[in-house]
Amino acid sequence: MSIRRSGSYNVSKKSKTKPNGKKPVSEEKKLYLEPEYTRVRVADFEFKQLVTLPQEIDLNEWLASNITTFFNHINLQYSTISEFCTAETCQTMAACNTQYYWYDERGKKIKCTAPQYIDFVMSSVQKLVTDEDVFPTKYGREFPSSFESLVKKICRYLFHVTAHIYSAHFKEIVALELHGHLNTLFSHFLLFIREFNLLDTKETAILDDLSEMLFSEDSREAAGATGGAQNHVKER
Ligand SMILES: [Zn+2]
Repeated sequence: MSIRRSGSYNVSKKSKTKPNGKKPVSEEKKLYLEPEYTRVRVADFEFKQLVTLPQEIDLNEWLASNITTFFNHINLQYSTISEFCTAETCQTMAACNTQYYWYDERGKKIKCTAPQYIDFVMSSVQKLVTDEDVFPTKYGREFPSSFESLVKKICRYLFHVTAHIYSAHFKEIVALELHGHLNTLFSHFLLFIREFNLLDTKETAILDDLSEMLFSEDSREAAGATGGAQNHVKER
């Protein structure tokens, strides 16, 4: 299978410096952009092949299966550092310089702490992926017409959580030696999002500096040296 867009990720070959200068100078040094960490993965996959819709598999089924897996892995990743994510340490749901607000069922904006926001995310996504009317698992059941927009919504939420883990808790992730897992998970998740246009590029821009480094050739070669094998794709 060919890798159609392999060249497009090779943006920052010389990854010793920050790949872009868009971020404000006041921002703290981003630990997660240090090459010693961006190089680490738990596996060196051709992610492009992993995310491509296999022949004879229904698109919605493929989205459902992968999104459920991403949800489980991101939830697990967050649970490893959740004791450090408290109303005191993370008074707002922030990632880099962006602040997210939760909107309740009536569309009312709610200001909440990061752990509250993430709790809202995880419980609402859990509800959706286990709802047989939204994520049908039984043979012959149809996906709802709103399926695609719900998948996009889930991706947005899960991206916010991942961005918060990177920007606020990467130190703890490193202390637990889980940065390889996080980098692998994020690379896979982001390529999946791109493959199926599930998020606006504006939404993911806050981690562009990181993704450029993770997808750079130098970084991938180095990752190959540490590679074990852990497949994040599972059928539901
Ligand atoms: Zn936090």
